[in-house]
Amino acid sequence: MATPTASPESDVEPSSKLIYLFGDGRAEGGAEMRNLLGGKGAGLSEMSSLGIPVPPGLTITTEVCSAFYEAGRQYPAGFEQQVRDGVAHIEGIVGARFGDAENPLLVSVRSGARVSMPGMMDTVLNLGLNDETVAGLARSSGDERFAYDSYRRFVAMYGDVVLGLKRESDLDEDPFEAILENKKRALGVAEDTELPAAALREIVAESKAEIRAKLGIDFPSDPWEQLWAAIGAVFESWESPRAIIYRDLNGYPSDWGTAVTVQAMVFGNLGDDCATGVAFTRNPKSGAPGLFGEYLVNAQGEDVVAGVRTPQPLRAAEQASDGLPSLEESQPAVYGELAGACETLENHFGDMQDIEFTVQRNKLWVLQTRNGKRTGPAMVKVAVDLVDQGLIDRDEALRRQDPEQISELLHSVFDEDAPTDVIAAGLAASPGAAVGRVVFSAQEAAEWAERGEDVILVRLETSPEDIQGMLAAQGILTARGGMTSHAAVVARGWGKCCVAGCGALEIDYAAGSFRVDAGGREITVSRGDVISLNGTTGAVMLGAVSLTDPELPEELDRLMGWADDARRLGVRANADTPEDATKAREFGAEGIGLCRTEHMFFGEDRILAVRQMILAEDEAGRRAALAKILPIQRDDFEGILRAMAGLPVTIRLLDPPLHEFLPHAQEEIERVAEALDLSPQRILQRVQALQEFNPMLGHRGVRLAITYPEIYEVQVQAIVEAACTLRAEGVEVQPEIMIPLVGAPEELAKLRTRVTAVADRVIADRGVALDYTIGTMIELPRACITADAIAEHADFFSFGTNDLTQTAFGISRDDAGHFLPDYLRENVLAKDPFVELDREGVGGLMRIGIEKGRATKPDLKLGICGEHGGDPASITFGHEIGLDYVSCSPYRILIARLAAAQAAISED
Ligand code: PEP
Ligand code: MG
Repeated sequence: MATPTASPESDVEPSSKLIYLFGDGRAEGGAEMRNLLGGKGAGLSEMSSLGIPVPPGLTITTEVCSAFYEAGRQYPAGFEQQVRDGVAHIEGIVGARFGDAENPLLVSVRSGARVSMPGMMDTVLNLGLNDETVAGLARSSGDERFAYDSYRRFVAMYGDVVLGLKRESDLDEDPFEAILENKKRALGVAEDTELPAAALREIVAESKAEIRAKLGIDFPSDPWEQLWAAIGAVFESWESPRAIIYRDLNGYPSDWGTAVTVQAMVFGNLGDDCATGVAFTRNPKSGAPGLFGEYLVNAQGEDVVAGVRTPQPLRAAEQASDGLPSLEESQPAVYGELAGACETLENHFGDMQDIEFTVQRNKLWVLQTRNGKRTGPAMVKVAVDLVDQGLIDRDEALRRQDPEQISELLHSVFDEDAPTDVIAAGLAASPGAAVGRVVFSAQEAAEWAERGEDVILVRLETSPEDIQGMLAAQGILTARGGMTSHAAVVARGWGKCCVAGCGALEIDYAAGSFRVDAGGREITVSRGDVISLNGTTGAVMLGAVSLTDPELPEELDRLMGWADDARRLGVRANADTPEDATKAREFGAEGIGLCRTEHMFFGEDRILAVRQMILAEDEAGRRAALAKILPIQRDDFEGILRAMAGLPVTIRLLDPPLHEFLPHAQEEIERVAEALDLSPQRILQRVQALQEFNPMLGHRGVRLAITYPEIYEVQVQAIVEAACTLRAEGVEVQPEIMIPLVGAPEELAKLRTRVTAVADRVIADRGVALDYTIGTMIELPRACITADAIAEHADFFSFGTNDLTQTAFGISRDDAGHFLPDYLRENVLAKDPFVELDREGVGGLMRIGIEKGRATKPDLKLGICGEHGGDPASITFGHEIGLDYVSCSPYRILIARLAAAQAAISED
């Protein structure tokens, strides 16, 4: 039979060097090449150069993966020869030959993207075994049982990963697992380890027979044929559904590709002087210094992951509960060598490492090192400790923070080790973790919560009417709406977990259930079923995933202090209540950048007065209703200004279209009719009259004030009276009155005159000295283009990038969820522009606005208060274009402080 080749080679040529060798204290690659060699390949190369004992190997570059896909799943020219030369290099170091019947070299074939994607791609171990080489392995290891156990594992893994023989449905058993279990049952043994060599040999034969029966092919015995197909399968696993979901959740582009490392096998299952394990150079949960990890005696790596046996701790100090010895006690010399390797690696990389190792007959082999994944608290503690140890400086410590992960410090998080069953993914709209029973209406949410149930509110979308239920729920899941949808904005403001725009959900309110197609599984979740939401990744999971409440590490204050020293951008909060303002201040907010006054209108006690105002027939009627609203608003403003004493507070006058405040459900309409002594028909008529085709572009913002001047007049009166009361008490206040949705300079000119008249009258009446400023939101393209004229009437600009994105793209904020996911999947847009500010378009308009605004008023104060004010990449942009501050929800203040510091540092 002719030697199988690597399949036809294409003429797509990435670069002439397709593989990189490592081993025996040398390497062609290094740590800086992780984009080309993947994290694993780069780490192995670096370790080899550092003299850490790694089994020799070769890494096929990510460029080959990209070329493989580009050329329709063909390898580039020269590939086969380079791999063959690489295998010869491994043979030379190990002293064994690939496919040799006497002394066979076995290899592992592993995936490795530039970032770790744990468990998302495939691996094949023990490759090179066949009926002849297995006998050679039995002889060279002196352990026939081990040889056949390795062979049976190989056939099962290869059969699954490369040949694709998997269980047919979730309810079936894995076909290879079934053969193993049958054999154990037939022999009356409980553990795999009790199976003798002869039984394992039968399992191999039965597994091959199963492959023949189910797939109609023979298991390949030629090691080279095995190798080429395994490499292909690993490349294919880059496009597997689970890898794609993981990439989508993490925002990794598909064109990164994966590298493939082919490496000599070492065995941790050759007897009791062998072991395999995982070591972290520090505790990845708490960040506490000292080796942390586990190992299993006489096992292969997959046994640790599979969790069949309970691993033992590495350190004696962390004695296992079942009394089994630690590695430190059972193999002190190996432990010493491992501790030394850990120290070398941590010092070399200047960061906590996550190391996989195998001990083969008392000889330590390190298989992998990478920067250890860690919890938010550990991220903070490790960085500060490394600064104290002199391994990194403060700027580096700040650079190492993932600002998003900081939010883990403020929310409960899922237990990392907990198993999950992800059934759908939506937008990671508001971080945190939530577990609860599914309910489908705000009323249900409130009622169930009242009787002590944790609930998840599942809606097509939310509206202001759902507020009480949203508040009562642990988490919110919507099928529609983007990152600036009502659900997303409100949940973020509260620091409540929210997954929005999960288009895969088919919600049936009438049936009280939703359906979802989870990669071929039809799942129906009914009212009362428990689900878990991960607002940090967007994952929706079946059942209750266990939660942990992280403690705030004491190092956080020091780290944030360094961030504050480094940053130039101010950080303010979007807050609408005294409670939120107080919380924001605790998190380090330097004022309020956006107080949305309409959010105050929804409380039980006030919505009626607001509705009365809207339903009024004439100005007199409106004024009568506004007279009821005035004292309520004044109290709110007093509370907020007091909470922010000494700091600026930007209060925006009413923005949304009036119909948003009106009742829509029949029951609600009747309740309001009764309270206002009007007929339900009259209310319905008014609701219909206020209905707009496109409310986002309709009668809202400053346009309301042009039609109904009294609304803003009363709001201004409330603000200024509250401020005067506080001034009279000696409290320092800095109110900034903001007009929304200005598109024409004339609008602001008119409003400035009116606002000033009311404010100055109140100040004169109260007889106190009060400074206030008047500014505008810049959230329409026309406002950017005419910013020079608008600035004539403004003391400050605050970019409302939610509306600016909506109007610049012409994409409705509320409807984006229907089609933006397709844009992202098809790479038409790299990022959701409602999440990360679009630098070219929306950012271009902002640049024009800033240039023109400052041309008129060089000291014009500039901020951003759209949701982008809490997004790290957008904050970097805000720094670059010279904003004075960003404003975001209280729970994103820490993120913003860090991101602002990172922006300043990266500029130096
Ligand atoms: C904006 O448009 O960016 C903004 C902050 O206002 P809102 O989201 O309330 O429209
Ligand atoms: Mg707006």
